[in-house]
Amino acid sequence: MKERDILFSPNKLGYVKGVNRPKVDCILCSALLGEEGVDNLIVFYSRKFFVTLNLYPYNPGHLMICPRWHTETMEDFSEDEVVEHYTLQKLSLNVLKRMYRPMGFNLGYNMGQSSGASIAHLHYHIIPRYRSELGFMDVINGTRIIVESPVATRDRMIDAFSEELKDWEDFPYESSQE
Ligand SMILES: [Zn+2]
Repeated sequence: MKERDILFSPNKLGYVKGVNRPKVDCILCSALLGEEGVDNLIVFYSRKFFVTLNLYPYNPGHLMICPRWHTETMEDFSEDEVVEHYTLQKLSLNVLKRMYRPMGFNLGYNMGQSSGASIAHLHYHIIPRYRSELGFMDVINGTRIIVESPVATRDRMIDAFSEELKDWEDFPYESSQE
């Protein structure tokens, strides 16, 4: 399998090696706390989780759903948290359909270092897939180049989440604080 065909494995070698990585214990906890020097690409907060763009997206619109507490496993989710997580998946899929009209999605966790996870803090990937992915990016020497700035995407995505919620009769996981 060529490197660019591996799921959930965007080109981020520098990041994995620690070259470009901010010197913080957990990048997701730091983003959540709004710490300086950490790119904040969070697009939505619910009661127990948040949704963020991936700084090294596999495809445009690559999102991650993360717990608002530091955990490395999903086995300790309560039933309520499982339902909240599922609701966020549904919300995120609708937002991505609204923004990008993808042809499909890859969904899932990489848990633990051997799985390819480069961030220990649990994160659930939602990766939109497109009919012609080369229409969105060029592949140069196996490196995927995404032609969209994460910050520009973030601002559009925040708006898309609020638009989508207007169509929901009830969203019981409203965050009381961001
Ligand atoms: Zn963390």
